[in-house]
This record gives sequence, structure tokens and C-alpha cells, in this order.
Amino acid sequence: MKTEKQPVFVTSKRKYLFCGDNKGLERLTPIIKKVMKENISFEVVYLGEKEETDISLWLKHQRMGSFLYVAMEWSKLEDVKHLAVECGFSEEEAQFIGHGVRMIDVFCCKCHQKTKMSSEDLGKLPTTCFHCHLKLSVSDHYSPLRESYLGYATLETGSDHR
Ligand SMILES: [Zn+2]
Repeated sequence: MKTEKQPVFVTSKRKYLFCGDNKGLERLTPIIKKVMKENISFEVVYLGEKEETDISLWLKHQRMGSFLYVAMEWSKLEDVKHLAVECGFSEEEAQFIGHGVRMIDVFCCKCHQKTKMSSEDLGKLPTTCFHCHLKLSVSDHYSPLRESYLGYATLETGSDHR
């Protein structure tokens, strides 16, 4: 099951900001072309070569009314999202498009540490806590407070040790 979000063109903004990695910018190309065709000002930043501080400087210098597109690997998308929010972009002023395997954090109910798993396995496969090795069944309940999905101890005592 793929749930990759496609970028959607949000019209009538004063300026458009695009940033992403190789594949991300590729996916933004149809929108960049539309913006070019309509002769609206825009900037493109390739994220592969930028440090985080550069990005936040760039974002902070944008005027009100700019619309931001960020398209990159899931693993890095969250960081840029945090930066954008810090720089004053709200959910209505930005779109974040991830690609590749999305790794999510699972919060262990026993040791309260986080373990990474692929989002594709969410709700299907149990995982094992990296820290205390408890076998966790992962709910699709996302906790914004912990920025992770909650993992519960599995009741099954099966023999499928891997
Ligand atoms: Zn644990």
C-alpha cells in the first residue's frame, strides 16, 4: 500500500518556494512549470547541498504570502517541516510531500524509548523494541506529544523469533 501524497497546485499566491532533493524536485516539476507559465515569482532550492541553517535563513527572509513546497525523503522531511514551522509557515502556507520508505517512531510501553519501523508495516507486523527487546504490537494511534505511534506488549507468545 502506497500512500504517497502528490503535490497539489495552490493558486493565487504571491510567490512560490520549492525545495527538495532530486526526486522531490522531480515530483514538483509539474507545479514549477505552471508557476513559470503564469509568470509568478518563485525560487527553487535544492536541499541536497544545503545545511539546515541555510534553509531556515532562506525561509525567514521570505515575505508573507509565499507558499512553500517541500518534497523530499520521509526521513528528512520532518526536520524541514519543523524548520518551516519555526520560520512561521503554517499548515495552510506549505505542502510537504514525502517519498521513499517512511520510517516512523514507535513508543515502547515498557521502557518509553523509541524504535523505528517502516510505516508500511504499521498495523500489520509487530516489531521489537530496539532498547528492551519487548515484542510490540503497534497501534495506528499517533501520539503528537511523543511524536510516535504507541506500541503495546503483544499477548502472543509465538515461536517466530527472528
Ligand atoms: Zn522497550
